[in-house]
Amino acid sequence: MRRIRKYGESILRKKAEEVKEIDEKIDKLIKSMKQTLIYVKGLGISAPQIGVSKRIFIAYDKEKENYLTIINPEVIEIEGREIDLEGCLSFPEIYFSISRAKKILLKGLNEKGKEILVEGENLLARCFQHEIDHLNGILIIDYASEEEKNFYKEKLEKLKKHL
Ligand SMILES: [Zn+2]
Repeated sequence: MRRIRKYGESILRKKAEEVKEIDEKIDKLIKSMKQTLIYVKGLGISAPQIGVSKRIFIAYDKEKENYLTIINPEVIEIEGREIDLEGCLSFPEIYFSISRAKKILLKGLNEKGKEILVEGENLLARCFQHEIDHLNGILIIDYASEEEKNFYKEKLEKLKKHL
């Protein structure tokens, strides 16, 4: 279990680095990410959120009850649009309304280094897009309206104060 980095911490704004080789260090990192995700009962987690600026994320596929690890993800195709409320482990108790593609096809490597194609729909597609954003230093607040930011003003300020 690793500490989850919260809004205001600079690592969340950095573009994460591509993984060149899946060595022992990366193995360990993926294990820590999975443990942390299970512990907090989240749907997805990216490496920067536990303090490591690498292009890796884990998403929980609710339908298949399966954890998907994706390294160096690339978007191949997107389809449709859908607006829904979205939360983030780095923004506890805060939800913003965000428009995302309804369906997405990704290319990447799995935890063994094998090239994979993964398709996500609905919640899983949303999760993929959210986690890829993390790898590019983009956060849910970047999509929020002034009204939404105002609504959560106190919570957002409190988050920054705890740094
Ligand atoms: Zn997040």
